[in-house]
Amino acid sequence: MMCSRFVFRCFKALERFGDRITGAAGPFFVAFAIILIGLGTVCFFDVIMPSLMWPLISGPICVLIASNLWMHYYYVVTVPPGFVDEPPREAPPKTILWAEKRAPRRGEITAGVRWTEELVITRAAVTKCRKCGQQKPERTHHCRICKRCVLKYDHHCPVSGVNQCVGLHNERHFVMFMAYLVIACASLTVTGLPHVLYALGAAGAAFDVHDWPHHVPQIAFIMIYILSVVMALAVGVMCMYHLWGVMHGETTVEAQDHDVYRRMAKSRNETFVNSYDLGKRRNLALFFNVGENGYPLYTLFIPFRINPYTDGRSWARREGYVAHRGVRQGEELTDDDDDGAEPEAA
Ligand SMILES: [Zn+2]
Ligand SMILES: [Zn+2]
Repeated sequence: MMCSRFVFRCFKALERFGDRITGAAGPFFVAFAIILIGLGTVCFFDVIMPSLMWPLISGPICVLIASNLWMHYYYVVTVPPGFVDEPPREAPPKTILWAEKRAPRRGEITAGVRWTEELVITRAAVTKCRKCGQQKPERTHHCRICKRCVLKYDHHCPVSGVNQCVGLHNERHFVMFMAYLVIACASLTVTGLPHVLYALGAAGAAFDVHDWPHHVPQIAFIMIYILSVVMALAVGVMCMYHLWGVMHGETTVEAQDHDVYRRMAKSRNETFVNSYDLGKRRNLALFFNVGENGYPLYTLFIPFRINPYTDGRSWARREGYVAHRGVRQGEELTDDDDDGAEPEAA
């Protein structure tokens, strides 16, 4: 437990360092990511796909994985994270990209926030941002790069080619994109092994260039293969880190803050309780907005757009809680403290 937290914290420090040195290189990373994902897709469908067993089953599965990967990448780059100074978003338009929501039960209010009997959703406490002067509800943070307040701010992400904040409205797409990237890279790693061995000449003693009946040159395939092994591992760790946070009802920022609160509470012989943590299963259901009161489960496999369960101004909490336990008023960390501890990058 301690060990995994330590590893995650090291990883986080590394990510922040990466954020800084690449702050200005955002658009470059988007182009780079599109080229690499594109090359990976071409390699897979040109070299590996024709040799797969049961093409009637494996074919549609591969197409589904690829379309999820591309669509969630497109969403996470183009769907704004949700800024506090925007008017609340209206009901989603009836287009093919949006998932159909389950019909409301009798007496259920569905406008804006999804209120249900079993779920305790309370209005968020509001404070004023010292940097942009906006009223910011709980879980909102001021992004130093966007210079705006972001609802349920997770992090600003230039590194993985997203080039914007990850917050309330695109965090689901962000995690889904990572998950499908891991699935795609792992699939390429496993199913591409015989081809890469062949391309390396390990499968046959005398390898002839003419024995490579694909459009993609062997050298390009070998490089994409190596890259996808590395990506499967690296993004796999990142994805696990984010899912760990989701399961504990924490964003990336909150995971760090809660560590501080936990230590403070412990020094007083109290226990810190995160009031957003409703248990692993329910936290996951709320984050992906599926299950009992959300969207149907198939939205995890078909790349639809989906609204979050809340408008970012109210939050589901543990029963009987209106705030976290173990942290007293005035002790909460703010974005100003964050700046104090970690000065802005030049
Ligand atoms: Zn602000
Ligand atoms: Zn930002």
